[in-house]
Amino acid sequence: MRNFAYLRPDSAKDAVAMLTASQPGARYFAGGTTLYDLMKLGVEAPQTVVDITGIEELRGIDVSPKGGIRVGALVPMSDLAEHAMLKQNFPAISESLWKAASQQLRNMATIGGNLLQRTRCPYFRGSPEFACNKRAPGSGCSAIGGANRAHAVLGASSACAAVYPGDLAVALVAFDAVIETISPRGQRFVAVRDLHVVPGSTPAIEHVLAPDELIVRIEIPMTPAGRASAYHKIRDRESYAFALASAACGVHLAANEVVDVRIALGGVATRPWRASAAERSLIGKPLTRQSARRAAEIAFAEAVPLQHNRYKIALGIETVIDALMLAKDRS
Ligand SMILES: Cc1cc2nc3c(=O)[nH]c(=O)nc-3n(C[C@H](O)[C@H](O)[C@H](O)COP(=O)(O)OP(=O)(O)OC[C@H]3O[C@@H](n4cnc5c(N)ncnc54)[C@H](O)[C@@H]3O)c2cc1C
Repeated sequence: MRNFAYLRPDSAKDAVAMLTASQPGARYFAGGTTLYDLMKLGVEAPQTVVDITGIEELRGIDVSPKGGIRVGALVPMSDLAEHAMLKQNFPAISESLWKAASQQLRNMATIGGNLLQRTRCPYFRGSPEFACNKRAPGSGCSAIGGANRAHAVLGASSACAAVYPGDLAVALVAFDAVIETISPRGQRFVAVRDLHVVPGSTPAIEHVLAPDELIVRIEIPMTPAGRASAYHKIRDRESYAFALASAACGVHLAANEVVDVRIALGGVATRPWRASAAERSLIGKPLTRQSARRAAEIAFAEAVPLQHNRYKIALGIETVIDALMLAKDRS
């Protein structure tokens, strides 16, 4: 067993100060369902764990001064999924939470930790004998040319094709959510769309936050497209499984034409993937199964399959079409 120091601050400011003083090799701990898992697998080995679960200011769901839904980073997934304001205004976001993990995990896991969960690529999580540029930069990638059925067809590089596994971030990207962070350098706001990065030649860098940056809350701006929205998730079994393909879609129709539409993809890309060109193709047109198919094909126009994941292109297209139709039914 590896020893590590355990610290438990009771304010966000103290948490940042403790983590900064313990760098390098310190991590925030929220629900622990990703962090402890990776520590047990030997993928992560922090020397210090800063437990933020006692910080009251990171809790709560309310309405922001701008009218959006504001969610504390420590809110459990299950609490947000069931919140009446979210269910009414963003069914897609509520569904992205309900369709993730298991009830026990959703009770334990937090919104902030969920956004920073790490890939489920078996080579990343498996024995260090496998090459993984994410786990050991420069070692290579066993997935490319290996077992890559679950890997990405969008946003991959020759160094990494690991899928971003989360569901919530996909739905948040569709609806322009923003996270608020604090660090010794002050407060900042980052669009969830800009939070995760594609692997390029540096797969170990997964997001734009600094190690000492603490997510305080997220804000979801209100939009009519949120009310007519759906999260459609296809997986190997109907519950307790990660997405092979998913889509968060929302639509705002006026006089039967698309005024606003949101399409974000999960399970098929190295980060939550907003399909902006696909959205543009629908603006000003009626939303039919045929126009939805055209948009879905645009969303996957730049997909590059590996040996075993070509099926994700056809599956992803059908997933987007069905999600758009579900969203339309709710408009
Ligand atoms: C068996 C299993 C199945 C799962 N299935 C799904 C699924 O289908 N869909 C899905 O989306 N997820 C799934 N998950 C992942 C799960 O949702 C995440 O593990 C969970 O949301 C992480 O939240 P946490 O609070 O436990 O994070 P932690 O494990 O505490 O932290 C995760 C990471 O985030 C950092 N962190 C945590 N909070 C903050 C903060 N406020 N500021 C800065 N950094 C922070 C930590 O340092 C750590 O690096 C599954 C997990 C398991 C174990």
